Formats: sequence, structure tokens, C-alpha cells
Amino acid sequence: MDASRRKLVVEVDMGRCIGVGYCVDCAPAMFQMNSNRVAEVVDPEGADEETIMEAAQSCPVDAIFVETEDGKLLWPK
Ligand code: SF4
Repeated sequence: MDASRRKLVVEVDMGRCIGVGYCVDCAPAMFQMNSNRVAEVVDPEGADEETIMEAAQSCPVDAIFVETEDGKLLWPK
């Protein structure tokens, strides 16, 4: 992992995800669709911060939550 990358905590709210897959298109090493057609984080270090934020912002239902390690919510705003 790039040492300059701060650690982010990324979670998908599976109850909210509608399975359109934009996050997977944006960051396929990090997000994958599971067998229920819901996105999940498969590799928490699979994308850099910019890509993570892009993926979260691409989600039409704000199902992707991004926090810093010390609990500051970065997305959704
Ligand atoms: S972009 Fe949002 S709704 Fe679409 S698969 Fe990802 S988490 Fe689910």
C-alpha cells in the first residue's frame, strides 16, 4: 500500500444498495457485486482515496459510507 494514503473505512449499506454497479465500474478491485446483486467491499485497500470518493459519489442512493480511521464521515455529506 502507498504509505502516503491515509486509511479510510469504507462500507456499503446493503439494505440501501440497488445494485446498479457504478461503484464496481469505478473501483473494481475494491467493490464487487455479490450473489444477491448487492455491492460489497472485497479489498479495503483496493483503490486510492480519489477513486474511493469517486465511487462513493457515483452511487445514486448514497449507499457507500466513507470514514477516516478516527471516525470522521467523508461521504455522504
Ligand atoms: S453504486 Fe451504490 S447502488 Fe450501485 S452497486 Fe454500488 S453501492 Fe450499490
